[in-house]
Amino acid sequence: MMLHSQYLIEFTYLIATALFILSLKFMSSPATARHGVWAGEVGMLLAIVGTLLNAGIVDYRWVAIALVLGSMIGVPLGMVHMTAVPQRTALSHCFGALCVTLVGASEFYLQSPNVPKFTMSVLAMEVILGSLTFTGSLMAAGKLQEWLPQRPITFKGQNFVNLGLLAGTVGVAVFLVMHPERANLFPIILGVPFMLGVMMIIPIGGADMPTVISLLNSYAGLSAAAMGFVLNSKLLIIAGALDGASGFILSVNMSKAMNRSFANVIFGAFGQEQTKTASAVEERPVKSATAEEAAAILGAASKVVIVPGYGMAVAQAQHKVRELYDTLTKRGVDVKFGIHPVAGRMPGHMNVLLAEADIPYDKLMDIDDANSDFPQTDVVLIIGANDVTNPAARTDKSSPIYGMPILDVDKARTVMVIKRGMSPGFAGIDNPLYYLDKTLMLFGDAKAFVGSIVRELTGGGGHG
Ligand code: NAP
Repeated sequence: MMLHSQYLIEFTYLIATALFILSLKFMSSPATARHGVWAGEVGMLLAIVGTLLNAGIVDYRWVAIALVLGSMIGVPLGMVHMTAVPQRTALSHCFGALCVTLVGASEFYLQSPNVPKFTMSVLAMEVILGSLTFTGSLMAAGKLQEWLPQRPITFKGQNFVNLGLLAGTVGVAVFLVMHPERANLFPIILGVPFMLGVMMIIPIGGADMPTVISLLNSYAGLSAAAMGFVLNSKLLIIAGALDGASGFILSVNMSKAMNRSFANVIFGAFGQEQTKTASAVEERPVKSATAEEAAAILGAASKVVIVPGYGMAVAQAQHKVRELYDTLTKRGVDVKFGIHPVAGRMPGHMNVLLAEADIPYDKLMDIDDANSDFPQTDVVLIIGANDVTNPAARTDKSSPIYGMPILDVDKARTVMVIKRGMSPGFAGIDNPLYYLDKTLMLFGDAKAFVGSIVRELTGGGGHG
């Protein structure tokens, strides 16, 4: 009977593992991303069910309490606005990492003083990465939610102190592998990384937090994989390794899209530029236009590229953008979308919003395709994007975003920009695009302004 249920558990885990791998595969294309969510959810459900079948569980009451508590926290967390997803994700890592750390600590005290060398090595890795990720993720969520100051907090010799603390912790861990009976040292490999998580995040500016979160995602995955070795669970090893690798690849890709090196993200205190330059928006004349004028220009164009950014997400303007797309397409205008890989506040942010509004996926161009299209484009309509269109990234060596690949919207014949005022974007810097002769500023909230353009085009009247 026991043997049967063991087979059943292993089988459930096998299916769950396959579903996790499929989930990542599906996620690699927006066309199949929804299947990816389903595969991930069913995989996780099977993993939980398989674990609940474990004969080692002697009392289900605690499990039931944990399930109720977890659901009470998880359900509201799942309902946050799309713009708050980065900090929500950080909180999820934080819970995962806390769980890994607690399991690691209890395993150590259960097995101590006779912890085999291999178990002690992976256990130390699990606890160090877990506790560091716990406080690091809490700090990252706090910074993104603006509960904590976004600007980097730095002091002299900071990187040296952090590296010293890490080296000291690893040293103690190695000693514990040799002498697992010295249980009194265990709190060090638990406590110092707790502190290190805080110390590692305070010098990193808010602008780099999404990259840091995907790095923490990777740490949480690796610590879960280490826990898999401790608990002898293949499912945890595989799921943790998938999580660790995908988080790492994502952070590298995000750094690339921002033209930053990994070391620069982690040690560079990039966000300092934000406060320094935020007030430096120039008071130069710009040309502005009404919704009526914008509608006339768009209606007369034969090729239009829409460039969405963070402002479209904040205004939740994607459904109005879909109406604009439909209206212009009906008039025979060729409408496409230029998508920058770090537009918005998380990877794929624009793709998700446009997919939510059912905008055909084949109308979305990546940065390279969009850039080769702009010279033949009549009108580029920028909706709440700023940094990702800033030509200073190409020309101004002193700019903090110099070298970042951008959408070359200034190569189009006419540029129209919907934003509420002249405020800078995330990097906190002025955008020379707004002062070009070919640029028209359309001041207003993205949703309201796009709505007004649609009304003008469909003969409904109204101004932006
Ligand atoms: P952005 O540079 O932050 O600019 C967004 C613009 O939207 C602002 O200038 C703002 O101007 C406008 N806006 C805000 N609310 C609006 C509303 N309701 N209606 C109309 N406009 C509104 O955004 P982005 O061009 O998308 O660039 C993303 C930035 O985030 C980049 O610097 C990128 O490096 C950074 N980042 C992204 C990721 C990622 O994964 N996507 C990760 C880390 C960092 P007004 O206030 O004047 O309206």
